[in-house]
Amino acid sequence: GYIGLEAAAVLRKMELEVTVLEMAPRVLARVTSEVLSDYLTSLHMMHGVSIKTSTQVNGIQDHEGKLQVVCNDNAEYLADFVLVGIGVGPNTTLAETAGVSLDDGIVVDEKGCTSVPHIFAAGDCTRHPNRFAGGNVRLESVQNANDQARVVAANMVGKASIYDAAPWFWSDQYDIKLQMAGLNSNYDSTVTRGDPTNAENEGFCVFYLRAGELVAVDSVARPKEFMAGKQLIARGITPDKANIADEQIEPASWLKP
Ligand SMILES: Cc1cc2nc3c(=O)[nH]c(=O)nc-3n(C[C@H](O)[C@H](O)[C@H](O)COP(=O)(O)OP(=O)(O)OC[C@H]3O[C@@H](n4cnc5c(N)ncnc54)[C@H](O)[C@@H]3O)c2cc1C
Repeated sequence: GYIGLEAAAVLRKMELEVTVLEMAPRVLARVTSEVLSDYLTSLHMMHGVSIKTSTQVNGIQDHEGKLQVVCNDNAEYLADFVLVGIGVGPNTTLAETAGVSLDDGIVVDEKGCTSVPHIFAAGDCTRHPNRFAGGNVRLESVQNANDQARVVAANMVGKASIYDAAPWFWSDQYDIKLQMAGLNSNYDSTVTRGDPTNAENEGFCVFYLRAGELVAVDSVARPKEFMAGKQLIARGITPDKANIADEQIEPASWLKP
C-alpha cells in the first residue's frame, strides 16, 4: 500500500536494502489502476527495491539476531527490521461503551451526529454518508479528517453544516508527487493522459469513469490535471474522453461551460 511504498522510498534514499512483500497480484491493487501500479512498480525497481507480489506473509520469527519473514511460497527473507503496513481498524471501544451505533467505524450522518444525541464524531473513525462513494464510507485521509472536523465543529456550536467535500489524497515517493481526487471504486473505464513511460519527465494521469461519469483522477506530477479533476468531480462534470486525453487542451478549459 501507500505506506509500504513511501517507507520503501525513504529507506532506499538511506541506501538500505528493501524488499516489499505484497499479497495481491500488484502493488496498490485495492486503490488504483494497473497503469499506476505498473508505473510505481517500475519506479521502485529502478530505485533498487525488490517487489514480490502474490506473496503472503505467513509469519515473522527471530533468527540468529535477525528477523525471518516466512511466506506462503516457503520463501524466507532475513531482515534487520520489518515494517508492517497492512491497514488499520478504527478504535471504537469508547464509542461502543457510550452506546453509539457502529459499522466498521462510528456511524454518523452528514453533520457528524452519531446515533446518540450530543455525541459527534469526525475523521478516520467515522462511517459517513458520502455522495462520492455512492453511500456510506470510512475514509482514512487528512482531507477527510480536516474537512469533516470543521463541519462537525460548526454543527456542535449550532451552525448547521453538511459534509460534502470531494475526497483527495497525496503520496510522495522519491521525487514524485502523486495526487488523487475522488473515489475510483467500481470504475469501469479509464482515460490516460500523458505517457506513463515518460513519467519521469512529464508526468501523466489516469481518469476513472463509472457509467460514463468521471469519479476519480490519479495524477503523477501533474498538479494542473489534479486541480481541475478535483473540481470536475466536486461539480459532477465529465469532459469528453477525447478532450481528457488531448494534451493540447488545457485542463482548466474542462471546467468552462
Ligand atoms: C504512516 C501514515 C502515513 C499517512 N500518510 C497520509 C498521507 O500522505 N495523506 C493523507 O491524506 N493521509 C495520510 N495518512 C492518514 C492520516 O494520518 C489520517 O487520515 C489522519 O491522521 C486522521 O486523523 P484523525 O484525527 O481522524 O485520527 P488520528 O490522527 O488517528 O487521531 C486520533 C487521535 O485520537 C486519540 N484517541 C484515540 N482514542 C482516544 C480516547 N479514548 N481518548 C482520547 N484520545 C483518543 C489518538 O491517540 C489520536 O491521537 C497516513 C497515516 C499513517 C499512519
